[in-house]
Amino acid sequence: MTLRVYNTLTRKKEEFVPIEPGKVKMYVCGPTVYNYIHIGNGRPVIFFDVVRRYLESQKYEVTYITNFTDVDDKMIRKAEELAVTVPELAETFIQAFLDDVKTLGVHDATLNPRVTENIQEIIDFIAALVEKDFAYEARGDVYYRTSKFAEYGKLSNQNLEELQYGIRIEVDDRKESPQDFVLWKAAKPGEIYWDSPWGQGRPGWHIECSAMVRKYLGETIDIHGGGQDLTFPHHECEIAQTEAVTGHPMANYWLHNAFLNIDNEKMSKSLGNGILIRDLVKQIKPQVFRFFMLSAHYRNPLNFSDESLKQASNALDRIQNAYDNLKHRLTTASATSEIESALTDRLAAIASQFDDKMNDDFNTPDAITAVFDLVAEANLYLQQERVNTAALQLFLDQLQAFDQTLGILSQQTDELLDEEIEQLIIERTESRKSKNWARADEIRDLLTEKGIFLEDTPQGIRWRRK
Ligand code: AMP
Ligand code: ZN
Repeated sequence: MTLRVYNTLTRKKEEFVPIEPGKVKMYVCGPTVYNYIHIGNGRPVIFFDVVRRYLESQKYEVTYITNFTDVDDKMIRKAEELAVTVPELAETFIQAFLDDVKTLGVHDATLNPRVTENIQEIIDFIAALVEKDFAYEARGDVYYRTSKFAEYGKLSNQNLEELQYGIRIEVDDRKESPQDFVLWKAAKPGEIYWDSPWGQGRPGWHIECSAMVRKYLGETIDIHGGGQDLTFPHHECEIAQTEAVTGHPMANYWLHNAFLNIDNEKMSKSLGNGILIRDLVKQIKPQVFRFFMLSAHYRNPLNFSDESLKQASNALDRIQNAYDNLKHRLTTASATSEIESALTDRLAAIASQFDDKMNDDFNTPDAITAVFDLVAEANLYLQQERVNTAALQLFLDQLQAFDQTLGILSQQTDELLDEEIEQLIIERTESRKSKNWARADEIRDLLTEKGIFLEDTPQGIRWRRK
C-alpha cells in the first residue's frame, strides 16, 4: 500500500508522490521564542517528528526544516518586560525549546533557521513582491495586496468577501484593504530594526517562512506542516507570497494537526490552564506523553487529563515490559539461528499491518494496535520454558523497528542483573560438564563483554563487575 495523506489544500486524502523520488522536503512552522513551550505545542512537534521518522523508515531521505521566529512584536514586548535584549531573549528560549524537544525524543531538524539570520533574503522577497505589484509601501510599512492574488483563501477555503467580513478597520490603517497583511513593519523609536529600501524596520510574521522555504528547500516543497490554527492566516499568507513570486505551488501537501485540550477545555492564558513541557516531564516519563499524543489520530482533537495520561502510562507499560522481558531472556536463551517460518510469517504480517495504518494518513492509533499484536505474540512466546536467541531477536528487531517511528520505548541499561549472572554461571558450569564447549565459551564471552569477571576459587566460581 502506498502512502496517502490528507491535504488541507484539496480537502482529501491523496497518494503521496515526492517531487524527487526517494527524497522528501519538509517544512514545519516553529515557535516564536519568547517563552517555554506548553503541552499543546508538543503536538505538532511530536506528530511531525513521527511523520519524518516514518518517511525515513520507508527509506526516504528527508530534509526537515523548522524555523525560529526570533523577532516580532511579542518578542519585543517580552524583552522589554524582562529588561533584556531581543537576541538575549531569543537565545534563552531557543535553548529551552531545543532541550524540551530533545527530552521528548524528537530528532534534530536538518536545520533550524532564524529570522534574524535571514533578513536579507526576507528583504529580497518583499522587494520582488513590490516589483510585481503584489505589495505596496505605506509610511515605512509594506503590505501585501491580497486583491491582486486571485487564489487568496484557497487553503482555508474562503473567498475575499468572506474574509473581509468581520475584520476591524483601524483608524490609523495604512492598508488599502482590511485583509491586506504586513510584510515589513517600520520600527518605532527604541525598537530593534534593520535597514531596508523602505526605511528602518523588521519583517512581518508570514514572510519569514516564504523566504526560508525558498532559500533552504526551493520553490516547491513536498510537505508543509503546522497546527490547524496556522491554516489561516499564516499559511494562506505564505502561499500568497510565495506563489506570487515563483508562480509555482509552495507545497504539494499541507498537513495540519488538530488541537490538544485540557480537561475538555481550550488551553488559554485567560483560563490559566497551560502546562509547560518542562513541568510535565518532572511528573511523567516523556515517553508516556509521546505515547499519549500518538494515541489519537493527528486530525482529531485530543484531550489531556489525569485519566488519559494514566491510560497511556498503563498501555505503554505493557509494551515496555514485553521489550524488557525479551531483552532479559536473550541473555540466558540458548543460541540458535533457526526460526520457525510460521513465526517469521506472523511477524511480517504484523509489520505490514503497521505500515498499512501509517500509510493511511499516519493513523498512529491503529498502528499502535499492530504494536500490541506483536506484544501479545511475544508474551505468548515468552511463556515457553525454552526460548531461543533467534526468535527473541526477531521480536526485538521488530519492536525496535516500530520504535524507530514512534520513539516510545525507554532503553534500559544493558547491565545484567545479579541473578542473571548467577544463572549464566551455573549454565556455563553445566555446559562444561556436558562438554558443550561452544555454549560455555559463548557465555564466557557474553560475561566478558558485559564487564563481568570470573575467578576460580576453591569454593567455586566467584564473580565481580569491572
Ligand atoms: P504558538 O506558540 O501558538 O505559535 O504555536 C506553535 C505551534 O504549536 C503551532 O504549530 C500551533 O498550531 C501549535 N499549537 C499551539 N497550541 C496548540 C494546542 N493546544 N494543540 C495543538 N497544537 C497547538
Ligand atoms: Zn510558517
